[in-house]
Amino acid sequence: VVEKAHALVLESPRRLTKHSFDIPKSSEADAVVKVDACGLCGTDHEQYTGAFPASFAFIPGHETVGTVIDIGPKAKEKWGVKEGDRIALEVFQSCGNCQACLAGNYRNCEKHGVMDMYGYISIDKPPSLWGGYATHQYLSADSIVHQVPADLDPVIATLFNPLGAGFRWAVSVPNLKKDEIVAILGPGIRGLACLIAAKEAGASFVIVTGFGDKDLDRLRTAKNFGADLAIDVSKEDPVKILRNATSGHMADVVVDVTAKAPSALAQAIELAGFGGRVVLAGTKLSSDTPGFWPDAIIYKELTVLGALGVDSPAYAKAIETLSKGRYPFESLSRQVVNLDTAEQLIIQMAGESNAVPPQHGVIVP
Ligand SMILES: [Zn+2]
Ligand SMILES: [Zn+2]
Repeated sequence: VVEKAHALVLESPRRLTKHSFDIPKSSEADAVVKVDACGLCGTDHEQYTGAFPASFAFIPGHETVGTVIDIGPKAKEKWGVKEGDRIALEVFQSCGNCQACLAGNYRNCEKHGVMDMYGYISIDKPPSLWGGYATHQYLSADSIVHQVPADLDPVIATLFNPLGAGFRWAVSVPNLKKDEIVAILGPGIRGLACLIAAKEAGASFVIVTGFGDKDLDRLRTAKNFGADLAIDVSKEDPVKILRNATSGHMADVVVDVTAKAPSALAQAIELAGFGGRVVLAGTKLSSDTPGFWPDAIIYKELTVLGALGVDSPAYAKAIETLSKGRYPFESLSRQVVNLDTAEQLIIQMAGESNAVPPQHGVIVP
């Protein structure tokens, strides 16, 4: 019997169906992995609902952790991995030779670009297995892979994605230094990742904010992960609290990872101290900015920075932090599903069902 790969194909919005495919063979510089786990994030439900549109059928899943089962000699050399090794796969491909790639800005690779990303490539392009909602995934020669330690649970390892974002958004983009004070707006998985990254970088004090009852558990989790303060802004004024806690210094770095929270911008600016850096990360999905007062940026000589994606050094830091075992990653509210039950979780994570979405959703095919 020839073994087949099984995968979920998004044929059109909200039409996720199971298909089987031939398992490809590696050639010189590519590889095939058995998918151990694939993390889910906001992009997954945007793809599912069609908010992130596609005119073709594809296998979603762009947060893959897998075990190499077949690898070409050149790939082995380039990636430093062999059959049996576990790897984490970055979402973007990089040719390594174009100007963008050489400048480290490989999301804009001239050969691949932002659209040619894993979990978003047509099944008509051989060998079809370009996404993580599958038992097997193909790794092109232009893949960027990171080795994952064998003793790290692959489900936990999928957190390399949000945690990588945390290291880029809270540490490298604002150039966070040791003993600085950090404020993080938004207690979801990305806010939590920013908290961990800030603590790892030596931040002396970190405040995390959330809004209302739906964030209570998340604020509690932030405390468990080392937040010095976790504030529900629907009940308390974080500006006043931070002013008291820091004797008026306020935050050196503010990271706003909220979405659809228009008043967060004004609050982020208010939480920053003189000369502070304010990072706006992810996407805000709103054009309103109630209470935003531009002169505060001028008076406090703030630097406002935008951050969209993640880069290889940040992913590497994330995997290192996950393996150190210094944070209770197992304790996150988590739901693990298989290919047959994945659709329900994707719907739930979009907030479309009554069930409270877990902080960490993972497919183990
Ligand atoms: Zn993602
Ligand atoms: Zn390139």
